[in-house]
Amino acid sequence: MTTRRIGVIGAGILGLAVARELTLVHGAEVTVLEKEGDIAAHQTGHNSGVVHAGIYYEPGSLKARLCREGVGMLREYCAEHALPYDEVGKLVIASRSAERGGLRRIAERARANGVPGIVELDAVSLRDVEPHAIGVAAVHSPHTAITDFAAVARSFAEEVVAGGGRVLLGHPVRAMRETVSGAELIAGTRRFAFDGVISCAGLGSDEVARLTGRQGELRIIPFRGEYYRLTEFAKDYVKGLIYPVPDPRYPFLGVHLTRRIDDEVLVGPNAVMALAREGYRWGVIRPGDLREILGFPGTWRLARQHWKTGIHEVYGSLMKRAFLAAARRYVPALQSADLVRTTGGVRAQAVDRGGRLLDDFAIDVHGKITLIRNAPSPGATSSMAIARHIVNTIPKL
Ligand SMILES: Cc1cc2nc3c(=O)[nH]c(=O)nc-3n(C[C@H](O)[C@H](O)[C@H](O)COP(=O)(O)OP(=O)(O)OC[C@H]3O[C@@H](n4cnc5c(N)ncnc54)[C@H](O)[C@@H]3O)c2cc1C
Repeated sequence: MTTRRIGVIGAGILGLAVARELTLVHGAEVTVLEKEGDIAAHQTGHNSGVVHAGIYYEPGSLKARLCREGVGMLREYCAEHALPYDEVGKLVIASRSAERGGLRRIAERARANGVPGIVELDAVSLRDVEPHAIGVAAVHSPHTAITDFAAVARSFAEEVVAGGGRVLLGHPVRAMRETVSGAELIAGTRRFAFDGVISCAGLGSDEVARLTGRQGELRIIPFRGEYYRLTEFAKDYVKGLIYPVPDPRYPFLGVHLTRRIDDEVLVGPNAVMALAREGYRWGVIRPGDLREILGFPGTWRLARQHWKTGIHEVYGSLMKRAFLAAARRYVPALQSADLVRTTGGVRAQAVDRGGRLLDDFAIDVHGKITLIRNAPSPGATSSMAIARHIVNTIPKL
């Protein structure tokens, strides 16, 4: 059998997980094309670092299945490669009685998804887990973990290269077309011919889809997630992960407190619509991106349905006291001086023409070209399972 030559667009955790799977399991000759000068430059290097256990997701959805599978694969991978993985545990806290129903549904979903160790706690026993937290009730997921997703991605890249593949940085994919035998690409100034191409381009995924003429009914709307970190004095208020009961209308989990693997504690992320695909700050505005975003009917339908939440999020972005208030609902000892602004990330969130935020992972297969269209959180957690799923879905690999 001849060796298959596969091009992978994007050196985030998904592109590298796919490249690793193709190289190690299928013996393909893989070339990863990344526009930036480093791997994990976008979502993979700017997230909360939480290995989600699978407690929130609709049973039977791709997210629910691939998250659960992904956790097991990632835990094993981190152990084998001496990468950090710490089961610090998560508390989802209802801060008001009205949230008890939502909390109960989370416990039910977690059990339906096979998440181990789920325990429902009352106002007193939740403090055995997080002594500085308050609430009327909580769900404890003791196996929810933290890791360093950028380090995992770098490890995947090393395995790809050791297996004979290439990771080419500074290679933005600018053109692509399907051919009889596969696909041709122009990346930077070079031409490439492959038997198949898999796009894992995150915030650039609809631009890549457009290159193939298959943008369809989805667009990526960039949602910035901003964070504060706790100072040395306040860090000890949080042992693991403290989350609110999420609003079921949104795929975002709400401002939470997250202990990271480097021992920082983050407060965030919120979710504000960014003015550029890679709009890490309010000042970053790209007219081309903005034209695309505002020219899409789904953006306006989304805005009409959710303008109140949008205004609330913008207020939280501009006013530290709003962020502090969100954190103090769960850890009342926190003071304004305990929170210091730090770098955030931008989520690649797919929205359809009707203005619906796509909740599940979405992958389109068009002959020799496969496009990841939506892979928000828990995309990093699920990366190895998503990679196996994609590679097994591709015809005639
Ligand atoms: C604020 C925030 C918090 C999150 N928290 C968590 C969490 O705690 N746990 C979790 O599991 N997930 C979390 N996520 C989600 C997770 O980070 C993503 O699901 C995951 O990183 C997606 O990986 P990716 O490889 O698809 O994307 P990315 O890491 O964004 O990689 C895509 C790559 O494609 C490259 N690219 C784009 N266009 C082109 C082009 N034309 N040519 C060449 N290269 C191109 C980009 O430069 C980029 O490097 C979070 C995300 C954010 C933003």
